[in-house]
Amino acid sequence: MNVQSITVLGATGSIGMSTLDVIARHPQRFRVHALSANRQWERLYEQCRQFQPRYAVLLDETAAEQLQAKLKLSGIDTQVLQGLAALEQIASEPGVDTVMAAIVGAAGLKPALAAARAGKRVLLANKEALVMSGQIFMQAVQDHGATLLPIDSEHNAIFQSLPRDGNGDLRAMGVRRILLTASGGPFRSIPIDALAQVTPTQACAHPNWVMGRKISVDSATMMNKGLEVIEAHWLFNAPVDQIQVVIHPQSVIHSMVEYIDGSVIAQLGNPDMRTPIAYALGFPERIESGVSALDLFQVARLDFEAPDARRFPCIELAYAALRAGGTAPAVLNAANEIAVAAFLDAQLPFQAIASVIEHTLAAIPLGAVETLEQVLGADAAARQIAQEQVVRSQATC
Ligand code: NAD
Ligand code: MG
Repeated sequence: MNVQSITVLGATGSIGMSTLDVIARHPQRFRVHALSANRQWERLYEQCRQFQPRYAVLLDETAAEQLQAKLKLSGIDTQVLQGLAALEQIASEPGVDTVMAAIVGAAGLKPALAAARAGKRVLLANKEALVMSGQIFMQAVQDHGATLLPIDSEHNAIFQSLPRDGNGDLRAMGVRRILLTASGGPFRSIPIDALAQVTPTQACAHPNWVMGRKISVDSATMMNKGLEVIEAHWLFNAPVDQIQVVIHPQSVIHSMVEYIDGSVIAQLGNPDMRTPIAYALGFPERIESGVSALDLFQVARLDFEAPDARRFPCIELAYAALRAGGTAPAVLNAANEIAVAAFLDAQLPFQAIASVIEHTLAAIPLGAVETLEQVLGADAAARQIAQEQVVRSQATC
């Protein structure tokens, strides 16, 4: 068996740690080349001790100095690098086979794109990268012979439910629709009036999944599903009207593909990200993930409902941005990141997240996307407008 050399971007996060958990189960199969984090150097240090990577990268300069000092003291031979260019380096350098792209938000775009442009096997958790720059990203994958494997549980389920040799043509595969399941998050059934008062702690208490704080809030607003609609469009070349969101509170079916003969193929499993991560790490083989077997008797029932557009306006905002095309999804994503950060910081009420995004989309003229600079320009402009909107909404509170 060839040993796969892996870079884990965002190693200290929820996906990063689950990835390392799976990797640790297969020491003969995987070798960790590099790990990265924003500024959590202590956790990164523990990971360096366990996995002995060649490089550890921190975005934060002070954190990088602290890590370097501690590693030296412990006699660990990992080299510490710092900054965005270093993230791109560990994502693209020769000797790396596979890159787990698990940085949260727009910050993950450039390193993920660097991996695609270097023709790596890219395990993509960082959905925001694809939302912002779908066309450019998919083109880079194609032009440079990269392999793109989705980590998002829904897209991993869809990938598993599609024929393996379909060449990306859904019509030729006989696909009628993609059914993207969603748990509905923590606020699926509370009275709508109560949404005005919900706190970050409540929003981050997801009923089925343990995740980072940003994606937890995205799940509570269901913008996560909106971003995933856009992600599915790019990953599977799926027309927007063939992607249907289905609320399924148990999170046992991770998504489905409906075919023209009436067949619906689904992937089921316990809600644990180590399953899609192990699938992508081992692909095309199946490997142990540490996830317990699904107990159908305990699950007992599977429920489905249509999403309520009044409760979850973010889903429709995402569909509208996808239909508009060009820079609209990048604007949607940036405004969402600003609004979610403000909510987590107790600077914005929960329901104002959608209003900030709507306002930002309306305020920025739609542009074409041919270059990465256009994407990053739209991202920067949207952040500024969204931030102004957050400040304005504070003034009126
Ligand atoms: P997280 O907040 O737990 O971890 C984020 C990681 O990125 C950390 O290692 C952090 O240090 C690093 N990071 C943060 N900001 C950075 C920056 N500016 N530059 C460099 N590194 C930075 O997030 P998560 O829940 O692991 O999610 C990661 C990505 O995976 C997100 O895009 C999310 O949407 C996606 N995803 C997560 C889950 C899940 O179950 N957690 C499921 C599906 C998809
Ligand atoms: Mg998901």
